Parts: sequence; structure tokens; C-alpha cells
Amino acid sequence: MNNIETPKNGKIKFDLIVVGAGLAGSAAAAVAARKGLKVALIERGQAPGGKNFFGGALYTHSLEEVYPDLWDRKPPLERPVTEAGFWFLSKDGMVNMSVRGGALNRKPADAYVALRAKFDNWWADQAQKEGAFIIPKTTVVDFIREPGGKVIGVVTDRPQGEIYAPVTILCEGVNNLLTQKLGLAKHDLKPKAVALAVKQLISLPADVINTRFCLPDKSHGLAITVVGDVSMGLNGLGFIYTGEECISMGVGVTLEVLAKERVRPYELLQRYLNHPLIAPLVAGGRLMEYGAHLIPEGGWRDMPKLFTDGVMVAGDAGTMVNPLHWEGTNMAIIAGKEAGETAVEAHQRQDFSATSLSSYRERLNKRFILQDLYQYRNLAKFLEKHPTFMNVYPNFLNDALGMFFTGYGKPKKQLYGDMFRALTNRRPLLQAVGDMISFGRTVIGI
Ligand SMILES: Cc1cc2nc3c(=O)[nH]c(=O)nc-3n(C[C@H](O)[C@H](O)[C@H](O)COP(=O)(O)OP(=O)(O)OC[C@H]3O[C@@H](n4cnc5c(N)ncnc54)[C@H](O)[C@@H]3O)c2cc1C
Repeated sequence: MNNIETPKNGKIKFDLIVVGAGLAGSAAAAVAARKGLKVALIERGQAPGGKNFFGGALYTHSLEEVYPDLWDRKPPLERPVTEAGFWFLSKDGMVNMSVRGGALNRKPADAYVALRAKFDNWWADQAQKEGAFIIPKTTVVDFIREPGGKVIGVVTDRPQGEIYAPVTILCEGVNNLLTQKLGLAKHDLKPKAVALAVKQLISLPADVINTRFCLPDKSHGLAITVVGDVSMGLNGLGFIYTGEECISMGVGVTLEVLAKERVRPYELLQRYLNHPLIAPLVAGGRLMEYGAHLIPEGGWRDMPKLFTDGVMVAGDAGTMVNPLHWEGTNMAIIAGKEAGETAVEAHQRQDFSATSLSSYRERLNKRFILQDLYQYRNLAKFLEKHPTFMNVYPNFLNDALGMFFTGYGKPKKQLYGDMFRALTNRRPLLQAVGDMISFGRTVIGI
């Protein structure tokens, strides 16, 4: 990693400053450096990735968009996702709705499980190979501004740590203190729009993972979203991802729910890991990593202004997460890339004003990022108002399918009547129909 030397005239100058060497930041730095900009990529961690944490899976389309020669660069990815889906947990049962094979058999696969400490370090390394200058162990704490307010650099926690550039991209992650400092975010994180996810990374031999998850070998892996009893029926989701020789298991619930229900996140995770159908999957495993991280789930409605004079915001700092699909990494990477390219264009125009940088937002408008976030703009509110999707329906599915597959010798008319009552005893039919219509409107936009 690089050390910065203060030049004789005292001012350290770059063409572009990128704050945060996570997924968004290293993507932004790479594309801008490749086009010849002198880029400073500033990271507060000991090394890129050191502080980063997710479920999770990375999406090939976004990685290849930044590096068309991705596979020659040998990215440190774990198993491809060849099975994906939902597990609906009841107290002691589960309905498994997953897809394997078919479209998920593509090579390279559409998604790969990854370990961020390894991956982010490599990802930043690629940006360095494109010419970006990485400044680790350095936290950006403030901005340098012209009298009119335009940002012309940043102040870091290093002695004489001022760094100048006509344009800065903030990729600081969910804790977007700098974005707030500029007044781009309307408020601090809202407890109802931020989830706290806790996770354990559990080491197990590859053949044990293969047997337990019915995977033929290490070239197959699974990504599962877990709904229902995983979050005690509260507004939240769990996940399971299989690495080469590890399993990532976690659960995320909004801060508001945690506070209201007085649930301790680590107890929630332990409860999940003790579930009768989950415990055998992790039995005998060795704990490799335990951590918690926030996820900005407010999406479109909580999104800060994404640009101002001399600044753009990308990734989690701009609430670019689609929690239903566990999409955050691809949004961060593509937004980072678009911001990097906008910085290059701004240099060509020699115009770093908000008007010039507004093309960044236009670029995002044309991509899935703002289109999806707009489509799902009511999701957080919908889930808050419809806890039924976390408790009633997972339990109903378990009961109804349980009845269907045990109703032997029972007249089928009675069986279907029992199944129907398994729903209506929990939720009156009209309300259930209303829930489904509301779900369709919120998610699919029908
Ligand atoms: C438990 C969990 C599971 C998830 N699973 C998935 C998944 O399976 N798939 C998916 O697509 N998404 C997933 N996500 C979301 C995904 O991880 C994020 O959307 C993504 O990491 C955002 O990338 P980013 O670059 O914006 O931010 P980050 O990856 O958080 O990077 C921010 C970087 O900025 C640095 N930084 C912050 N402030 C400063 C400062 N002032 N000065 C210098 N450096 C600074 C940080 O150290 C960090 O390196 C998950 C998230 C969580 C928490």
C-alpha cells in the first residue's frame, strides 16, 4: 500500500478523491484511473476489506462490467450459486422453495458467494493496478470548500491531512456521516429503515457441506433467504450462503423492531441456529467470524441527494440496496462505476458543478438501480404494515403443505377445508386477498 508524501508547495492534489475502498469505491477508482485520472482511494481500515462484512453473494454482471477480463484476473470467489430460494420456517418445520439447475447452471454463474475481507482487498488491488493510489488507515473527517460551498478536497485524520481534488466520490457505506455533513442526506439513519444483521461464519469441511446441503461438489453452492421463525415472525430476514469450506448464517431485523420488541440481535441469531432444522446443518462447525452490520433498507424514500458541487455519492451511502433480493453489492459497484465515469467526463468538460455532475443521476436513472429502487419505494413501509408476511403466511404454508402430504385416508373435501381454515383462522380471507394485492402492487408494481 502507498504512503503519501507532501509535495514542496504543501498541497496534495489529485484529479479525483474516492472515500471508502469498499465495492463502490474501488469500482469508481478503477474506471477513473483507467481513463487517466490521478485518483486517491482513501480507506479508514488497516487494509481494504478489513472492516467490510456481508452475507453474501456478489453478482457476476457487475464485476464483469468493471472488468471485462474478470476471469483472467482470478477473483477470490467461493462457490457459485447453483441453488437459490426461500426457506419458510415455522417453529419446528420448513417449506423449501428453491430453484436449482436450469438457469442457475450457467458458467460462469450469475452469482458467487464471497468473503469480503479477501474479496475487497483483491478488488482494491485491481483498482491500484489500473493506477489508483490507495491511502489506507486514513479516515476522511471533513471537506475543504470554496467560499461558495463547492467541495475542493477532504480533510483526513492524518497530520496535515488535507487532500485536494476538484471532484470527490463518497462511497463511505451505510454510516454516511460525510454525506450527512454536506446536507445531502435529510436526516440520520431512521430506525425503521435500517436493519441490523448479525452473522456467523462457520467453518466445516467441504464434503460435510456438500452432504448437508445436497450439493454434488465444491462447484455447487446455495444462497437461501430464510423467512418466518428465523426472525421470530418479526420484520426481518435470515440467510444461508455456502462458501467452499464455510457456511454463512445470519439474520437481519430493523432497528425499530429490535428496540420495540427488546430483542437482542445475538440472541435472535442463536435462536435461529438452534432451530431444529437449522442446528444439524451447522453442527460440529467452528466459528470463524462473528459480526454485525447495518443495512440501509429505506431505498428510494431515504435516498440522499446523489450529487452536489464537486461531490457524488454511491453505494450504501446512497441507500442503494434492494433488501428483498439481497442486492446491494451490484448496485454499489455499478453506481461506483457510473460515478467514476461521470468524474472523467467532468474533467473533460472542466466543469465540476452540480449541474455537470447531475449526469451521474441521469446515468443511474437508465440503469436497474434507480428503476428498481423506485419500483420498491414502498417496500419498507409495506413490510412494517404487513407483519403477516413474516409470521402468518410462513406458518400457514407449513401447516397447509403438512396437511396436504399427511391427509391420507381423509376425504379430500375435508382436507382442503382444513387447509383453508389453516389460513382463515389466522387471517380472514378478505384480508389475505388484500395482503396479496398489496404485495403485488408494492413489489411487482401491478
Ligand atoms: C449481513 C449482510 C448481508 C448482505 N448480503 C448481501 C448479498 O448477499 N448480496 C448483496 O448484493 N448485498 C448484500 N449486502 C449488502 C452489501 O454488503 C452492501 O450493499 C455493499 O457492501 C455496499 O458497498 P459499499 O461500497 O457502498 O459500502 P461498504 O462495502 O460498506 O464500503 C464502505 C467503505 O468505506 C470505508 N469508509 C467509511 N467511512 C470512511 C471514511 N470516513 N474515510 C475513509 N474510509 C471510510 C469503510 O471502511 C468501507 O471500506 C449485505 C449486507 C449485510 C450487512
